[in-house]
Amino acid sequence: MSIGDILSEGAGGIGGLKAGRDALVVMALDLALSVPGDRVLECKGTSFGVPSVHAWKFPGPIRASDVATLFSEGSDSGIDDVLNLGIDASMAFEIIAAINGDAIVPDSWMDSYGTELLDGTVPGIALFLGEPKEASVFEITECVGRGLIAILSGGYSKIEIVGENILKIGAEEALGINGLVSRAALKYGGAVAGNRTSMGKYLKKKPKLAVIHTGKLTVSDITAMFSAAAAGAFIVSDSPDLPNIPRICETSSKEMVAKAIANRGITFGNNKGVRFVSASENQRIRKADARLEFGGPDAPPSCEVAIACGHAEDGRTTTTGKDIQELEGGAHSLSIEVLVSGGVDFSMEQAIERRIHFALSRTEGVWHSGQRDNSWIRISSSAVENGLTFADLGSNIISDIKENFPTVAEAVEVVFTSDPSSASSKICGARERYGIRDRRLSEISDRDVDCFFTCTICQTYAPGHICIISPERPSVCGSVTWTDAKVGSEVNPGGPQRPFPKGHIIDAEKGEWTGANDIVRRASMGSIQRIYMHSVAKYPMTACSCMEVAAIVSSDRRSVILLDRSDTGRNPSGYSFSEVSDMVGRGEQHPGFMGIGKHYILSPGFLRGDGGIARISWMSSRLKSVLGESLRKAFFDAGISEAYFKIADENVAEDAGSLGVWLEENEHPAMLMDPIRL
Ligand code: SF4
Repeated sequence: MSIGDILSEGAGGIGGLKAGRDALVVMALDLALSVPGDRVLECKGTSFGVPSVHAWKFPGPIRASDVATLFSEGSDSGIDDVLNLGIDASMAFEIIAAINGDAIVPDSWMDSYGTELLDGTVPGIALFLGEPKEASVFEITECVGRGLIAILSGGYSKIEIVGENILKIGAEEALGINGLVSRAALKYGGAVAGNRTSMGKYLKKKPKLAVIHTGKLTVSDITAMFSAAAAGAFIVSDSPDLPNIPRICETSSKEMVAKAIANRGITFGNNKGVRFVSASENQRIRKADARLEFGGPDAPPSCEVAIACGHAEDGRTTTTGKDIQELEGGAHSLSIEVLVSGGVDFSMEQAIERRIHFALSRTEGVWHSGQRDNSWIRISSSAVENGLTFADLGSNIISDIKENFPTVAEAVEVVFTSDPSSASSKICGARERYGIRDRRLSEISDRDVDCFFTCTICQTYAPGHICIISPERPSVCGSVTWTDAKVGSEVNPGGPQRPFPKGHIIDAEKGEWTGANDIVRRASMGSIQRIYMHSVAKYPMTACSCMEVAAIVSSDRRSVILLDRSDTGRNPSGYSFSEVSDMVGRGEQHPGFMGIGKHYILSPGFLRGDGGIARISWMSSRLKSVLGESLRKAFFDAGISEAYFKIADENVAEDAGSLGVWLEENEHPAMLMDPIRL
């Protein structure tokens, strides 16, 4: 039987892959023996010799005599072995092409995109395999319209469709898809040739490959699928003969393309020019350049919340109220709910919720800060003019969550609510949910656990900062509690939140632990040697500009003034929130100033080393009402209920002098304490 006959046979699961891989390997070995052993093997049209070998085995030139040493044992007992079969198939296909002089997709095709394949300009590649269905033309057009490259193989290559981002190849050429995307990772990315770990890691991120297969499953199809899977692809097929392993899903729905894209974590700007790129993560959108604003000091409240629920409709985004294109320029309220179903539970919600920040702040023309009911979003005029919609944002959120919680987020749905009265009731519901989460955590103390967590999400714009998260010290952005970080690290061990042993205690009151000092010393390259987690004096913990609240020691050093980002009026510290954020928001340590999360104020650890909650002398009436009954309870739990009523606000003190008078007149407890020693 010829290799062509074997490849066109019907395939059932991994058996089909083995048959395809074995046929290709046997043919490659036979051909290699038929030519002189010292013949250097090179495919036409590429500078990478035999690209898959160059990428996965060794980067030097390979000779015919080397071929026998290249292939795996051919075992299919685990996911790694199965992916090895995919790499074997790609290498064998290219060796055959090199010896026979057959064409593979040339480097020049890849060079026509260059870095666009990796910088997010091209969000991903969709490989279509098998026999097309009626809706296929629509799905291909949809992919290309959203900026993806569509590679059409087999029956798909016969569809009468042409376009800039469409490449038609033969069914057998699809066997070399691994070598094709590997070349992009090598030439335009940082992947290390011949290093399987480096290749695997890089291709997991980009270029993002999704495979859509329809029709009868052949040996050729399944072998090409695993050539792609070894390069990080997610595969959807309507064939019931697929093997049941991760990275593959069977679906008969019309939404195969959407499922492949979402599960591969492909994210979009939109088809009119808004991009989704890491480079946008640092973007600032000045007020003058913003068309729309949600949350923040000048807009009605907004919220964002993730909800673990029994059934989310995967990939769906809905909007209640006006869409981005319909809203009048200015400030509005907005609720963003992310419904997630699968292996998720209540304890994972907040970790998932934080991805909203990540997805939005990476969308060009969108700036996002804060979280929960303290979120603040600006959308630039140019993004609105480019046609940005809530559906685009929802699509990015869904893809980001799928990518970061691949094992648990089976279905993700996003609901935007811009209708003011509906948004207001959604915000109330979200606050109840935040309250339940916070109450659960308040039962654990720093002493009860062996490890704390780090979070490095914000190192893109505060490279020297690393968040240390303990049960009594939630993150400075307020969105990551110790429980969230624990869940985040379990679900995504290589992700931004990681555990570390807290080490020995140096000062229980101030919250100084050897483990935390070691971590911060490393993150700051030695510029910060020690941190106090529960004191604003001497070695306060560092922050990034996501900080919700600035804690500032008063000019007489007797008390602490708390400002949040909505406090734009005068206050007794003499500093504005943004001045403090500029000072400490890049991971620098300034005794007397500390960035904190709002809910840290309610923690029993709050400034324990400085006298605790009794030190609070001033906060705005608005912040006080946001903390509500929980703040009153924190004073009650500390045994100083009366001190709650002695906190000054903007109605009684706008400068240091009037604050001093208020504190004396009201016999504030901080007046009886020693000054804070900075
Ligand atoms: S502020 Fe800290 S916890 Fe929050 S996202 Fe940034 S690094 Fe993570």
